[in-house]
Amino acid sequence: PTGRKFFLGGNWKCNGSKDSIKKLVDELNAADFDDDVDIVVCPSYVYLTQVVGSLTKRIDVAAQNCWRGEGGAFTGEISADQLVDVGVKWVVAGHAERRHILGETNTVVALKCAYAISLGLNVIIAVGETLFEREQNLTNDVIFEQLQSLTSKIADWTKVVLAYEPVWAIGTGKACSPEEAQEVHLAIREWMKKNTSEEVSSSLRIIYGASVSSSTCNDLAKQHDIDGFFVGGAAWDGKEFAAIANSVK
Ligand code: PEP
Repeated sequence: PTGRKFFLGGNWKCNGSKDSIKKLVDELNAADFDDDVDIVVCPSYVYLTQVVGSLTKRIDVAAQNCWRGEGGAFTGEISADQLVDVGVKWVVAGHAERRHILGETNTVVALKCAYAISLGLNVIIAVGETLFEREQNLTNDVIFEQLQSLTSKIADWTKVVLAYEPVWAIGTGKACSPEEAQEVHLAIREWMKKNTSEEVSSSLRIIYGASVSSSTCNDLAKQHDIDGFFVGGAAWDGKEFAAIANSVK
């Protein structure tokens, strides 16, 4: 036993409508989840209050992003203060789609995490390498640089869940092998031990994300340093999502 509670996040991305989200919330409210897993779902901003108001309290709600500091003249942004105001407890930062499509830098990601944590929000922070970087043997370098930015700004790691998401495997249907994922998770944990503390490193939940399904989750979950999952596609089916939540550790 690792002492780290299993964690599952469901990333709904820029998908859904009032109706499809109502249907999914009904499925999640009826699903059977093991007690020993924390569960968080991440709707689009405009559906946050719908989900907070209709989803069982068994499951927490995260925003998929937030502005990097206090609100103000930042048209189109949503502040962490506003998330707190509408009852959201978690926020995602550094998702590959935001880093690579929206151009978010390591520094911006770290700033928004630090600000969100200062308001009491929990954060799911995603790190990971592209295919090009993996092929150049830069996986660890890229991830350690992402972590370096985070550790330079974040003092309190108790509110963090770190998601390792190999960019090349997101949405492809082909997850990383359990051994490949474990190797990176262990490298992250060792880096954290050296650069934060033994305590932070051993208690930090490092979850795997990218093409996880009910057929791949059990082998991944058995790896010592995989403490849960972040799922996209598989988050849209209540039964599939529950099967992943109840992965055999
Ligand atoms: C994601 O976008 O974080 C993700 C894990 O997506 P998928 O499960 O669809 O690969």
